[in-house]
Amino acid sequence: MSSSTTKSVTVFKNIDWLVAWDEANASHRYLRNAHLAIEGDLIIYLGKEPFQGEAHRTVDASRAMIMPGLVNIHCHTPSSPMFKGRIEDMGNPNFWNNKLYEGIGLFMVKDAKEQAAASRLSLAEMLLAGTTTCLDMEYPEDDDEWIGAFVESGVRGIISPIYASSSVDAISNSKLTWTDFADGGKASWERAIRTYEYAEAYPSDLITSMLAPNCPDLNSPEQLRDTMDFARQKGCKVHMHAAMSPSEFHEMIRRNGRTPIQTLFDQGVLGPDTIIGHGVIVDNHSWVNWHTRDDIALMGQTGTSLSHCPTVYARDGYKLESYRRYRKAGVTIGLGTDACPFNMIEEMRSAVTIGRISDGDMYAVSTADVFNAATVDGARAIGRDDIGRLAVGKKADLVVVDIDNDWMKPLYDPIRSMIYHAAERAVKDVYVNGRQVVADGELLTMDRKAITAELTRIADENYRRAPERDRRGRGMEEISPHVFDVV
Ligand SMILES: [Zn+2]
Repeated sequence: MSSSTTKSVTVFKNIDWLVAWDEANASHRYLRNAHLAIEGDLIIYLGKEPFQGEAHRTVDASRAMIMPGLVNIHCHTPSSPMFKGRIEDMGNPNFWNNKLYEGIGLFMVKDAKEQAAASRLSLAEMLLAGTTTCLDMEYPEDDDEWIGAFVESGVRGIISPIYASSSVDAISNSKLTWTDFADGGKASWERAIRTYEYAEAYPSDLITSMLAPNCPDLNSPEQLRDTMDFARQKGCKVHMHAAMSPSEFHEMIRRNGRTPIQTLFDQGVLGPDTIIGHGVIVDNHSWVNWHTRDDIALMGQTGTSLSHCPTVYARDGYKLESYRRYRKAGVTIGLGTDACPFNMIEEMRSAVTIGRISDGDMYAVSTADVFNAATVDGARAIGRDDIGRLAVGKKADLVVVDIDNDWMKPLYDPIRSMIYHAAERAVKDVYVNGRQVVADGELLTMDRKAITAELTRIADENYRRAPERDRRGRGMEEISPHVFDVV
C-alpha cells in the first residue's frame, strides 16, 4: 500500500514566491511567479513557464510562498505534551537543571494508548506549523499504537525505538545513580529491534525507522557495538543523545577519562550514519571547560550530524556554544524541537537568535543557515535527498504560506517574515507525499479538539498521581509551583 495519495495532478499556478532547489548551486532560491505540479507523491514540474500537462486540480498560489515541508530530526511525541506548563520553570541546580533526572519521569504517560494520544497532539501541532517529516524517539510500548498515530496524522515518520542497558535515577536531591539492567540490556535491545523491523516493513511509504540507543551513559559498550554492527548490516542510521548534560559529561569522565563524544568516537559510533542529539556539553563548553578541545572536530572529521534543539535548552539556561564552530568543523546541523512546542518555525527563530547571542556576532548564523537546517540539511542528516527541497522528482512535501497574513506584512522577504514574525500563523496548507493534510490552517486528518480533550483528561489524571510517583512524595504544586500564588 502506498499512502493515500491519488495519481491525479495538482497544479499550483502563479506562485508568488516558490522556494525551489537549485541543484547546480546546491542551494534553495526564490522563483517569482512560478508554477509547480505534483502527481501522486512526487513533484513532476516546477518552473517559470505554466505547466503544459493536464491538471485535475488547480490551486491559485498568487498570494503564497510555497516552501519545502520542514524536517524535524529530534523529538519525543509520545511523552512531551504531558510536560506542558509544568516543566518550563522547574529544575534541580544540583543537576544543572537538566530535566532528565527528575521531572520528566514524573509526568510520563502510563501506557501505549496514552502515548498514542500524546503523539497525536504532538503531530497535530507539528503539521499545523509546517513540519512534514518527524524523527521520533521513544521507548516503545505498542508498535501499532505508536505508528498508528503517525499514519492517522499523515506525517512522514521515522520511528526510532530507544533502548538502553541501564537506567539513571536521582536517588536524592543531589545524587544520581546508574543501575545496570540484570540482563545487560538484552530485552530492551530485542524490543527495539522488533519495533525497527516492524516499522521498516510497515505497509506505508511514510513510515521508516532507525536505531536509537539512548545515550553514552545508558548504553554499554557491548550494546553500542551491537548497534553499529546491526546498522552496518542493515544500512540504517543511528540517532542517539550525547553531550546533553554536565552530569552525563562528568559521569563519562569518571568511567573512562573521556568525554561523551570522545567515548563514542573510541567506540566507533561517530560517522556519517550517526546523528547526535544535542551535542551541547562538549569539551570546550564553558560549563565544563574541559582541558581537551577535540569534541567538535571529532564530530566534523567523522561526518557525524547534529540534531540541534535550541529552544528546550535555552529554557534551562543552556546554549550550544558557537553554531559557527560546529559548521566550520564540517558538522551537518539539522533542527529538532525535542519537546513542546513542536513548532519548527519557532525552532528556526530560536536557532538563529540564540546562535547569534552565543557567538556574540549576528553574522555567525544566517537566516539561510537555519532554513537549510530545517529543510535540506536535516534531510541530509537522516539520509534523504528526496525531501527538504522542492525539485522535479522529489517528494511532494510542501507548505503553502499565506503572504496575505497580516503578520507577514509589510512583506519584503517571505522567509524572514515567517521566521521572525508570523510563524505558524501564516501556514495555510500542508501536503505530505502529495496528500493534503492541512487546509486553511486546519487539520484534515485528525479531530484537533477531540485529541486535545483526550490528552487533557490524561494529564489531569497524571497530575493527581504525582505524589505516588515523586520520590519525595510531593504534589504537583510543590514540584512545579504556579507562576504566581494561587488563592
Ligand atoms: Zn531527546
